[in-house]
Amino acid sequence: MGDPACWLDQLCPECSAMLEPPAEGATTVQCWRCKATVRFGDEGPEVLPDS
Ligand SMILES: [Zn+2]
Repeated sequence: MGDPACWLDQLCPECSAMLEPPAEGATTVQCWRCKATVRFGDEGPEVLPDS
């Protein structure tokens, strides 16, 4: 059994879509399904509010 956190950390908090990891040097990625901006931090992914 692998560590489930390794892929759970890549799920969109809003819609549970599997997200691509951010590009090198980037800290956020836009969800392809719900268009949320998700930041991958030490605590796992979190949705950033639209500004
Ligand atoms: Zn989403």
